[in-house]
Amino acid sequence: MNNSLLYRPQLAGQSVSRKGNQLLRLIRAAQPITRSEIARRLSIDKSTVTENVSPLVKSGVLRQDTVAARGEHRRSRMLSFADDKTYFIGVNLGVRTSQVGATTLRGEVTDEIDFATPSRAEDALRQTKQRIDELVRRNEGRRLSIIGVSVPGMADAQRQKLIFAPNLNWRDVDIAGAVTIDNAVRVVVENDSTAAAMYEARLKIRDSDDGLMTNFILVRSGTGIGVGLVIGSEVYRGSGSIRGIAGEFGHMTIVAGGKGCVCGNRGCWEQYASAASAASLYLGDRPPARGESKPRFVEIVSKAKVGDVRSRWTLEKIGDYLGIGIANVIMGIGISRVIISGRLVYGWEFIEEPLNAAIKRSIIGKIDGWSVEAGEPVGSAIGGALEVAVEEYLRTL
Ligand SMILES: [Zn+2]
Repeated sequence: MNNSLLYRPQLAGQSVSRKGNQLLRLIRAAQPITRSEIARRLSIDKSTVTENVSPLVKSGVLRQDTVAARGEHRRSRMLSFADDKTYFIGVNLGVRTSQVGATTLRGEVTDEIDFATPSRAEDALRQTKQRIDELVRRNEGRRLSIIGVSVPGMADAQRQKLIFAPNLNWRDVDIAGAVTIDNAVRVVVENDSTAAAMYEARLKIRDSDDGLMTNFILVRSGTGIGVGLVIGSEVYRGSGSIRGIAGEFGHMTIVAGGKGCVCGNRGCWEQYASAASAASLYLGDRPPARGESKPRFVEIVSKAKVGDVRSRWTLEKIGDYLGIGIANVIMGIGISRVIISGRLVYGWEFIEEPLNAAIKRSIIGKIDGWSVEAGEPVGSAIGGALEVAVEEYLRTL
């Protein structure tokens, strides 16, 4: 990876809470991990690490075990999260299907329930609450810390409400109020692309040589398209009264006077490059004939894998449109690393090449250092929602 793309803040000049947050993120992503490894990855003194972790070891949030470190013969003291009595619930409200799941600070997903998303918000939230109650019953004797909810639209600045989800046609929905338990459990509502970006950031921290999130743009392509932004080690949601709207690139116009969109405009990017748009491309933009069903994205991918020409053409076309939009996003944001998330990832082998070719045609193609990679599909589902809950908890430590 190009080193110039890495964001390396000067930790020494930052507040303890900010420093602590990055440190805790690293421990969570790479646990178990030694103090010297944390110090090396974050470019800070070992004494700063000790100063930050000691109170958390004392209070029982972190534990220290003397074990053989990976690839080393001598035994080292490894830090990890100790608390498995606390758990988190995640809810991903998808356009077609939703998931409710639970996780611990050690990272394993302990439960997951999937269900078809009802079209009315009240019904969807009532069913969500029933499933949350079910998970609470299953986890009796443990402490539910925070509920994270990812939504396919804009969340308000307080991250309690959904402002607008065009693909569900839901507006001003008080999500936190509907799913909290006796108003005693904190609920955090987050845009699903931002949630997926948080999930991918943890994987990047785990796999990178340093302990920091890189700057990156996450493009989530499923029923619609959304963009999550990680800038300067933190997710970016916008500012002022339009906080929560950053990343709504799915509705940037890519074809003037093009296909009608759920948002009311025409020619939006998501009508051409979302996984869902593959069906109409495949059918040649005509409605399905009598007795013919709209092909699902995964069906088109399966057919492409056995050599079906129309399916391959469809995925290549999606790759082309996706690349055109990504070049626009890179130009606008000035971050050159892009991660693709969502159902679209299943067709990556057919999409990657035309996508890169489209970026190369743009002005971005004239410079080096950009990259587009496929992320983990789970990040755009339950993984992202759980990440929202745990991230919020880390901020409170
Ligand atoms: Zn639109």
